[in-house]
Amino acid sequence: MVSRIIPVNEFDLVVFGGTGDLAKRKILPALFKRFCDGQIPEGSRIVGAARSAHTLDAYRDLVAEALSEFAKELARDQDALRAFCEIVHYVAIDARGEGGWADLAGLLKNEVRAFYFSVGPGLFSDLAERLHLHGLTNEQTRVVVEKPFGHDLETAQALNHELAQHFDESQIYRIDHYLGKETVQNLMAVRFGNILFEPLWNAQYVDHIQITVAETVGVGGRGEYYEKSGAMRDMVQNHLMQLLCLIAMEPPSKFDPDAVRDEKLKVIRALDSVQPHHIVRGQYTAADGEASYREDVDNPRSKTESFVALKCQVNNWRWAGTPFYLRTGKRLSDRDTEIRVVFKDTPHSIFGPEAGQHHNELAIQLQPDEGITLKVTIKEPGPGGMRLIDVPLDMSFAEALGPTVETPDAYERLIMDVIRGNQTLFMRNDEVEAAWAWTDPIIRGWEARGDVPKPYDAFSTGPDDAAMMMSRDQRHWRGLGK
Ligand code: NAD
Repeated sequence: MVSRIIPVNEFDLVVFGGTGDLAKRKILPALFKRFCDGQIPEGSRIVGAARSAHTLDAYRDLVAEALSEFAKELARDQDALRAFCEIVHYVAIDARGEGGWADLAGLLKNEVRAFYFSVGPGLFSDLAERLHLHGLTNEQTRVVVEKPFGHDLETAQALNHELAQHFDESQIYRIDHYLGKETVQNLMAVRFGNILFEPLWNAQYVDHIQITVAETVGVGGRGEYYEKSGAMRDMVQNHLMQLLCLIAMEPPSKFDPDAVRDEKLKVIRALDSVQPHHIVRGQYTAADGEASYREDVDNPRSKTESFVALKCQVNNWRWAGTPFYLRTGKRLSDRDTEIRVVFKDTPHSIFGPEAGQHHNELAIQLQPDEGITLKVTIKEPGPGGMRLIDVPLDMSFAEALGPTVETPDAYERLIMDVIRGNQTLFMRNDEVEAAWAWTDPIIRGWEARGDVPKPYDAFSTGPDDAAMMMSRDQRHWRGLGK
């Protein structure tokens, strides 16, 4: 299959934080991959900007080194690597200082200019203000901001307000990289491109939905940040809620940024407030020579959760009575991000009780591999009567589309969408605020009650209470720990 690349106009992309971890691991490799695919037009330039002084050669060396590590295969092509580095430039700029801005202005030549704020949110308004002050913005300017977008509703509103002082909402791209994943977009294609699923996509046929984002890693070097954040702010408020929105939303009238985001917003606004007994917090303990959460963050009394499982409801006509179970955690048994849509049992079994009760299940896997599996019930082959078994109808993208189609990294897709000016896969200001408005009372409740997370064994499936929450509903978690 031939991959079809949609051409973009030549552009300038400035990465503030161009020497940071995110730039090296994700942003620059994504740009390099698009460059190797011929998607970056001649005349475009990529400008790294950060506080430290680097000569142009030293910065290009840093970029080449990062690509050799994080885009290994492609970086073996020395000509491609050299050609890419030619379009890379560097300016030393302190977001809070006035130096370097004139040099940056001198480098920008194209109408389309994107400024990627790959720095802490504390610097967003400094950058926005100075970009404006030094005359670097135009109508075709876009700014890309990274998570965390705020710490709660109040700080998110303040950030939105600060950005809105200098940019129109149509110029602001709030990244949630989960939305750039091929499978997440495929989720929309599967739902809205097939007649098969949509009629069943409601409380009448869906028993419940599970969303799991599990990691095997602990907080590692991010302890200081994580201790102030916890799983609720770090994962649920953004990634899990975005996935929930895409699963639960009504079909938008068209695949257009505001039509899609309007529908997602309606889902968040329809979420009920979570009851304290429908939520479980956990904290990993030490195991297999790995430190406990409290050791990792160097706080023996930490009350921050590294695990959350919760049950919520989308209070609308489509989903009334269908529970959504969300769970995320660190130091769990597997690295696994998936959504399970569990359909109801058939209303009546014509095969008798010995054939067993079966149901369909749609599993949408985002990590480690991307793919969609539909579990269907068939007859177990062979003699011996009608015994039913569940088998997967696999939609493995790699197999179906052939080896020539590589799943692009989410950042490749998202950065090119920024250049194209397509905001569909980015969060709008009201979406982010609505998500905080939902999570804030939960977090405030924990703080008010002095809630202490339940310890769980490292590399397990989380605290027992999370399993009990499910079993009280005569259900069980799927996927993890199998
Ligand atoms: P980092 O600490 O590795 O890099 C920060 C970068 O910002 C460096 O280039 C540094 O020179 C620059 N910087 C710091 N202060 C500056 C100033 N005053 N003026 C100009 N430049 C300045 O951080 P990171 O991991 O690259 O993360 C960047 C942002 O992206 C953070 O907000 C982080 O929360 C977010 N983020 C990171 C990841 C990730 O995987 N690293 C993932 C999601 C979101």
